[in-house]
Amino acid sequence: MAAYPGGEVGFGVAAVLTHAAIGFTLGSVLFDRPLAGTLGGVVADVDQLFPAFFGPPFVHRGITHSALAAGIAVAVVARRDRRAAGAVGVGYLSHLLVDATTPKGIALAYPISTENVGVLLRAHSPTASVALWLGCGLVMLLHRYDVGREIRSRIRIVGDWVRRGARPPG
Ligand SMILES: [Zn+2]
Repeated sequence: MAAYPGGEVGFGVAAVLTHAAIGFTLGSVLFDRPLAGTLGGVVADVDQLFPAFFGPPFVHRGITHSALAAGIAVAVVARRDRRAAGAVGVGYLSHLLVDATTPKGIALAYPISTENVGVLLRAHSPTASVALWLGCGLVMLLHRYDVGREIRSRIRIVGDWVRRGARPPG
């Protein structure tokens, strides 16, 4: 497996970039709230700043990487702005999903279970990171130029053409 330039620091920067890019993209496309999506995408990793003496569950990949924490984040934001809450929610979930593909997994069901769970797909590997960044860039391009509406309008034109063609002339 390829390694990140800069070792641990390079990995950390890439990981934050990945979470931010996915949160930004989902927040923009689904809720028109890019900032809230970005925040939802990265906020779980505040646990990197917890001092070591806190101990479990206030450790990296502890309580902030649980469905409970995601739910609390959404509920707090929903009191002010429902769309922003949606964006925070999809950003947060994307963070948990990506981290769940790493060897360490996440404490998804905390406090019901303290076990870290996941499926090893290595979404934080260098190759996967670049693929995810490019994917987000592509989705944002399609979104920016409203390709969805363009495709729908083309389908409508073809549909009309087929319906007219199927009718007897006159
Ligand atoms: Zn994380």
